[in-house]
Amino acid sequence: MNAEIISVGTELLLGHTVNTDTSFVARELSAAGIDLLYSCTVGDNPERLKSAVELALSRSDILVTTGGLGPTGDDLTKETIAAAAGKKLVMHEESLQRIEQYFKGRVLGENQKKQAMLPEGCTVFPNGCGTAPGCGFTTDGGKRVVMLPGPPFELLPMLKKEAMPYLTQGEKSAIVSHMVHVFGLGEGYVAEQIEDLCAGQNPTAATYAKAGEMFVRVTAKAATEKAAEALCAPVVEELKQRLGGFVYGVDVETLEEAVVHELAAQGKTAATAESCTGGLLAKRITDISGASGVFHMGCVTYANEIKTLLLGVPEETLRQYGAVSPQTAEAMARGVRERSGADYGIGITGIAGPGGGTPEKPVGLIYLALCGADGVKIRVMKPAGRYRGRDYLRNLAASNALDMLRRSLHGLGGEDRPAYSSEHKAG
Ligand code: ATP
Repeated sequence: MNAEIISVGTELLLGHTVNTDTSFVARELSAAGIDLLYSCTVGDNPERLKSAVELALSRSDILVTTGGLGPTGDDLTKETIAAAAGKKLVMHEESLQRIEQYFKGRVLGENQKKQAMLPEGCTVFPNGCGTAPGCGFTTDGGKRVVMLPGPPFELLPMLKKEAMPYLTQGEKSAIVSHMVHVFGLGEGYVAEQIEDLCAGQNPTAATYAKAGEMFVRVTAKAATEKAAEALCAPVVEELKQRLGGFVYGVDVETLEEAVVHELAAQGKTAATAESCTGGLLAKRITDISGASGVFHMGCVTYANEIKTLLLGVPEETLRQYGAVSPQTAEAMARGVRERSGADYGIGITGIAGPGGGTPEKPVGLIYLALCGADGVKIRVMKPAGRYRGRDYLRNLAASNALDMLRRSLHGLGGEDRPAYSSEHKAG
């Protein structure tokens, strides 16, 4: 089955509203094994909408529309979509009652009532978060049309609770997806390594990159969930084999979650001393429920004197090598480990920019140190590619620190492998 989305709304075309609805719908369709082949946005213009609906119905099995169901002036949208799909609108009494109930005690305008006008014979999707119901119906040509409201907080629950079960009812197949999380390799490099796996039809494998990390999603379709799992399993295993220690988890939420859970599993603890990341590493660790059992303390030590006062970084080290140096990162990691009594101390110091760089120490140069029972490992993040901004670099530095800790916990080695401040650099 293939599908197409039409998002309706002039505000989307003007760029005033970001089209998040399409992204929600696309993700749900893909998770259900429905191929999304086209997606388009049309303003509140009946002629253009009519031709977009006709085109969609001529080439796709399923049409999902978003927006235009509400009481606002653009309510011609619903009539246009229904008419182009060969349906007339009739009053749906139950929806009218729901709307009357919603407006209890207030005057109910004609436009509010018109929200209960729905295509004849459709399956109604009640709106638990607003007034406009959605609906699904089959055209005379056997195409399925689903109409959803525009506001994301109305669309999302209706999509999950009503529309997806409607679209997948009677499906005798199960879809299973697994997400393999990778840190330290660029998407292009990984895509090359797994080209043959990505060419597969069932299961499919596809790469995604996000904020310095990347993922491979493996999806299989079969008659039962067990059979779909069995199709996925060897490909997930093969990915783990090929990408080795760069895989930090399968179906985990985040790098910090993987690290906090591993620290807890091993009964180990960590403490952080941060300069350029300003506490971001500590924040990401403490975002995870259960962090209190594994995280001792986090210091943000910006000024040199404070690095000395709180962490015992020798003045001589700061004078001789500077605050941004492997020696200072090491002293920070040692200092915070000693003072906190944690198993691991992490030090981060660098230049997040955009100002503050010099030819010797350019923006993007960041040193990370991990101090454990077996000594100190240093990772250097080198500037590469274009400058992606302060937030990006700080986030990447925190991710690299988590990666060092993860590698150490699993005995993988490679804590000291250099990293680059560019997402797409191969490892
Ligand atoms: P209502 O008129 O009851 O608000 P509706 O179904 O008629 O709902 P629209 O009028 O098209 O929906 O849009 C209402 C609001 O929903 C928009 O102003 C916008 O904030 C949001 N919205 C609409 N479409 C999208 C979309 N594709 N992605 C994200 N937000 C959207």
